[in-house]
Amino acid sequence: MSQTTAHSTQTPEELDVVIVGAGYSGIHQLYHYRKQGYSVRILEAESDLGGAWWWTRYPGARVDSESPFYQLSIEEVWKDWVWTERFPCRDEVCEYYQHVERTLGIKKNIRFNSRVVSAKFNDTLNRWVITTKDGFVVHPRFFILAIGAASKPHTPPFADFQSFKGICIHTASWPEGLVTKGKRVAVIGTGASGVQVIQSIGPEVKHLTVFQRTPNYALAMQQQKLDKEIQQKSKRLFPDMFRRCRQTPNGFSFDRYPKSLHATTPEERLLFFEDLWTAGGWRFVTNNYMDIFSDQAVNDEAYFFWRNKICERVHDPVMQEKLAPTSPPYPFGSKRPSLEINYYDVFNQPNVDLVDLTQCEISRFTPSGIQTADGVEHTFDIVVLATGFHTFTGPYTDLKVQAADGTDILEKWANGVYSYLGMTVHGFPNFFYMYGPQSPGACNGPTCSEVQSDWIVGCVSHAMKQCFTRIEATREAEIEYRRLILELNARSLSRSTSEPTNFKGDLAQYGRLCLEVTDDGYRGFVFSSQVESRALL
Ligand code: NAP
Repeated sequence: MSQTTAHSTQTPEELDVVIVGAGYSGIHQLYHYRKQGYSVRILEAESDLGGAWWWTRYPGARVDSESPFYQLSIEEVWKDWVWTERFPCRDEVCEYYQHVERTLGIKKNIRFNSRVVSAKFNDTLNRWVITTKDGFVVHPRFFILAIGAASKPHTPPFADFQSFKGICIHTASWPEGLVTKGKRVAVIGTGASGVQVIQSIGPEVKHLTVFQRTPNYALAMQQQKLDKEIQQKSKRLFPDMFRRCRQTPNGFSFDRYPKSLHATTPEERLLFFEDLWTAGGWRFVTNNYMDIFSDQAVNDEAYFFWRNKICERVHDPVMQEKLAPTSPPYPFGSKRPSLEINYYDVFNQPNVDLVDLTQCEISRFTPSGIQTADGVEHTFDIVVLATGFHTFTGPYTDLKVQAADGTDILEKWANGVYSYLGMTVHGFPNFFYMYGPQSPGACNGPTCSEVQSDWIVGCVSHAMKQCFTRIEATREAEIEYRRLILELNARSLSRSTSEPTNFKGDLAQYGRLCLEVTDDGYRGFVFSSQVESRALL
């Protein structure tokens, strides 16, 4: 396997596999191809390992998946690693990635500072032609996109946005050393990043105004320090635990409670809800009654338990109504809740306001702040955009993926996304993506990415062993898969009225579907060798 770095003037390297992205998904892929002796390289836009965790530096950035589930299931890696907290902070996750390097020595197979700008399939070579921003070109047989869903920050088109003279930052590019203490700060957005920034800077800023469009049904994190010895002892169970995570709806080892809420007494459900709340983290959603997502009455009961918990913490009835409305604005758990430590307490501070954007929109930015529809001008030193990312097909706007005839994948998806298994696309042979359009969404990231990664490795290895030079999903297979995506969306309480972005079934169901496809001789795929590839397709 070549370890050298090629330059544009040299003949492009011909590798078996090129992976884009050095987060969990990309590293898992690299590890398995290398183990099987394939030539493989990761191209990573940043200067170190960690994917989104590398560049996520806003104050309070922390994992929302509890230990020990948020890690690779590779034994060489987990056997010598212990976490200090149940929900690790960003720096600890980055330290974990360095442990991955010390254990596996993967950096030698990674080209850092290599932002891929285009990837085009070459029909004659049956290889991808991948080009980075600095002109590096490589020709792999297989091209794997492992860049996650949150790679392109979303800045809403606010009127007169450029006129603001203070500091305006997106949570995705928090500058090192930015001081918020004693400043007048705005945070726009109350998703995962917004909640963490607000609870982190809230206690120390001079004044904080939160601009909220949709309330976050944030759950009590119940953070804990972890004991090293207890963790070491529990490791004998890790192989079973990692297997179990794949058999549950959300990629943790725990499952929904196998009982309907309707089969319980009010006392029983109150005590059950209290237990889940005390257990903390996602448990109030993931371990709740089996009908929490299929029965609106059950869902409402969970909502009102949650609402009471929040109202016990937030003193002002007006603020209570903004953060936890009497009438649920959307079904409980249908939008990703955040985990919080002191988020709701911040809103009891006299120096913290919340502008409900459903009642009073942002009209425009001004040189000194933000003007709202009621004519009030709010003045700030710093505006934080916690407005998320262009998810779904967003990452494909900067990284152009093209079929052999030049068709861009976004052109193909202009009238709706068609993929097979949320991993492959007809017309784009030898290409696999992970954690992208039509992949599973609401689950523990590492479990989901390993389910997909194992399947892709199996498929690529099958092709390599049989000397096939080309794999392609059929059009019929992706039409059938899209039908399933729409059906699952229609049945879900979290159904979107626009195009569903994810596979809205359980992760376990998704895993079974992928295995069925394999067991059925890679149903829905055409494998071919170089000479016959055109004829077969
Ligand atoms: P996000 O969850 O998509 O939240 C974006 C927020 O910005 C939402 O509250 C959204 O409101 C609001 N917003 C968007 N456009 C707006 C506009 N024009 N005006 C006002 N508000 C607007 O984004 P994120 O918090 O950056 O998180 C992105 C993803 O990263 C998460 O889903 C999660 O998977 C991951 N993440 C994970 C962690 C963790 O594990 N701890 C931490 C951070 C991020 P609406 O709800 O009304 O759209």
